[in-house]
Amino acid sequence: MLIKDYELEIFTPPCEPGAERFTAVAHLPVSISEVLPLLNATLRGAVHHPGAQALTWKKEGHNIAFHADRIATGNVEDRDAAIRKLEGLVDLVNRTWERRDQIEPDHETHQRPTPMAVYQLLPQTNCRRCGEPTCFTFALKLTVAQRPLEDCPVLLEPDRAEQRAELEAIIVDAPGIGG
Ligand code: SF4
Repeated sequence: MLIKDYELEIFTPPCEPGAERFTAVAHLPVSISEVLPLLNATLRGAVHHPGAQALTWKKEGHNIAFHADRIATGNVEDRDAAIRKLEGLVDLVNRTWERRDQIEPDHETHQRPTPMAVYQLLPQTNCRRCGEPTCFTFALKLTVAQRPLEDCPVLLEPDRAEQRAELEAIIVDAPGIGG
């Protein structure tokens, strides 16, 4: 296990005094700089900043930042949720590190696909079979890894194979990885 313990810091950002939302930071006793290219290779929508030794990721409305010496997440509703969120992120780093022999590190910086770019590759039927009111809503959630591609059954139809392949090319999925 790479990260065995960490120091927890939870605070309300100074620009939002009285806000009901928290930022949580795990200060790490070990460097995770070698994990960043592995996370970059596996996390959908992550943006790697090699010069700053940082990787940012947006998931389920939370802005997450991995640095060599810390992991931070914002917009968390309460302290318990902040602790759970950081535990999940630390676990994600540890599991990714354990799989390092199976992952090709990615040192490039990829721009996150825009919701519109994703939407243009969706069927655009607004059939609601995914549970969302429109294909654009689904595109918004797909872009920030809130929904997997497989949740659109229309894309699984054989004549949509090319469309699906194009979507897969701009979205990197990490099965089994969450946080
Ligand atoms: S199931 Fe697919 S085609 Fe139907 S609304 Fe959802 S994203 Fe659009």
